[in-house]
Amino acid sequence: MCTIIAASRNQHKISEIEAITKKFGMKVISRDDAGLDKREIEEDGRTFEENSFKKADAIMKMSGQVTIADDSGLEVEYLGGEPGIFSARYAGENCDDEKNNIKLLTMLEGVPYSDRKARFVSVITMVYPDGETLVARGECSGHIIDFPAGEGGFGYDPLFVPEGYQETFAQMSAEEKNRISHRAKALEKLEKLLEEREKRISEEG
Ligand code: IMP
Repeated sequence: MCTIIAASRNQHKISEIEAITKKFGMKVISRDDAGLDKREIEEDGRTFEENSFKKADAIMKMSGQVTIADDSGLEVEYLGGEPGIFSARYAGENCDDEKNNIKLLTMLEGVPYSDRKARFVSVITMVYPDGETLVARGECSGHIIDFPAGEGGFGYDPLFVPEGYQETFAQMSAEEKNRISHRAKALEKLEKLLEEREKRISEEG
């Protein structure tokens, strides 16, 4: 078993990641449990890919070990892709989920359902000490409704109804959300990339 370090401090995300990586003999620990510098890594990239890589690369350079980071957010078509990489701080630096949701509803006031298309995006990046980098993107499309519904989940979940469903992410069970979410899709992609990497290494002898 080798240990990889997660840039995230969110135990829930770490467990989701470990469910995949353990098949490849990798145990995941958080950057805090690895005893690394606790300072925030600035997310000043222009894309989910840039921010995800920046976090993974910084932690790899601090630790010298394989690292994994994810960056995610919500893109609303009518708003030209906003809030996007600014999803966590859409309503300002010290905002919370409720304020972000109120801002999103205000920005979409009067916009008909057919024009409220949105997608969640998750980009997971794994960086090896030799610089090899695996990048896995997952997306989940749906609509933004005009009132919050449901108590589960976090972030924009009470406003997001995924394509083909009648309820929001916040009204679904965690199992159901985790089956169809952007993060689940990115993790499926990561699993494929890890399989390809193992195959390539074994073929190289
Ligand atoms: P981060 O990748 O944890 O920094 O997430 C960025 C922000 O995107 C979160 O603070 C949420 O506002 C939003 N977000 C990301 N994934 C989800 C999700 O699964 N549900 C609801 N909101 C999400």
